[in-house]
Amino acid sequence: MRRNPRCPSCKIEVSRDNPFLPFCSERCRLLDLGRWLDGDYHVAGEKVEQKQESENQEPDGDDERRE
Ligand SMILES: [Zn+2]
Repeated sequence: MRRNPRCPSCKIEVSRDNPFLPFCSERCRLLDLGRWLDGDYHVAGEKVEQKQESENQEPDGDDERRE
């Protein structure tokens, strides 16, 4: 008897031919990765960083130019 590994994300058995081992699919692999990345980011202020970046990337303001 052979035991198939189980997907850490959804706990179903994964076939040994599966290219996404130990996960059952790419989606579960990303889900699991995203879950612990998400836990890390909840403490830090991620939104503040994003806002600063978008402000720097817009040098031209159409409203202030009157021609
Ligand atoms: Zn899965």
